[in-house]
Amino acid sequence: QAKHKGRGRFEVFNCLMHQKARQTMQMFMDLRLALQRNEFVLFYQPIICLASGRAAGVEALIRWFHPAQGMVSPGEFIPLAEETGLILPIGRWVLERACLDMLRFAEDMGFSEPMMVSVNLSAKQFAQADLYEQVEAIIECTGFPPQCLKLEITESVIMENAEAAVRILDRLKKLGIKISIDDFGTGYSSLSYLNRFSADILKIDRSFVSRMHLGGENLEIVRTIVTLAQAMKMLVIAEGVETKEELEALTALKCEYAQGFYFAKPMPLDQLQGFNMFGEMEERRGLSGDRRGRLPDRRK
Ligand code: C2E
Ligand code: MG
Ligand code: MG
Ligand code: MG
Repeated sequence: QAKHKGRGRFEVFNCLMHQKARQTMQMFMDLRLALQRNEFVLFYQPIICLASGRAAGVEALIRWFHPAQGMVSPGEFIPLAEETGLILPIGRWVLERACLDMLRFAEDMGFSEPMMVSVNLSAKQFAQADLYEQVEAIIECTGFPPQCLKLEITESVIMENAEAAVRILDRLKKLGIKISIDDFGTGYSSLSYLNRFSADILKIDRSFVSRMHLGGENLEIVRTIVTLAQAMKMLVIAEGVETKEELEALTALKCEYAQGFYFAKPMPLDQLQGFNMFGEMEERRGLSGDRRGRLPDRRK
């Protein structure tokens, strides 16, 4: 009797596994075709300079418009793309698209220089032997000014092979681009390495920013990361700011930049063009004048 029940349970489990595997296989096949079918789009989320209230740049965030499922978020397909190696052609596309989009945006808006744009790199992309050559080729082909391009690499990916990371980051920096350490605080950085990475920016992970205004551990972690960044002559960006209270707590800690739904959600390029990126914050903070914010060069 019990044995029979057990087997039944196993069969249900087996069937669920089978279904999951089929779904994954289907997604892999669809993902393989997504590039040639032009199903990817980059959304952009403004990064706000807290002192001026102006946008200092944007982060490019990929979206997949699946013909049947509609919009699929990167959390759902980037891990599979990473596992299967599809992330390499997708990543190349993202880098080139971000540069081209920002050039068009600058032209449409009448800017003399494109906005600073951040592009995320996953572990496999960061480990590519020809990453430097790839970035160099895209900068050359698009004519994008390298000082307006920033690569975001998560703390855990950098720390996975810290010695190699020191070398590749040094090389990338020679192209004139900027480097951000993404999701900072969630990995295990050794402080001695942090100083050897030629990174320009620390991005404080959203998990610490959320509810930091209530005090306690999160507030102290954010305070420590801001102090650390200043000591290391790096700029600091708080991710995932959702409320006015969080913004006020960040301002009190002299955090320099912030990003989050409180300011703006990631949006397609045409909305970025229609959206008064600077006006809304200026109104909020009573600012006017030059509408362009820039990430300064603290590290030279
Ligand atoms: P990330 O680089 O840490 O990006 C921040 C994520 O937080 C984005 O999710 C963004 O939409 C979300 N976010 C921003 N503000 C808020 C907020 O106030 N509240 C909340 N709850 N979320 C907020 P998204 O776009 O789903 O991307 C998730 C992750 O997928 C990214 O994390 C990044 O690691 C990866 N990813 C996105 N685009 C790309 C890409 O083009 N290439 C690679 N390799 N990875 C990407
Ligand atoms: Mg990022
Ligand atoms: Mg992040
Ligand atoms: Mg993240």
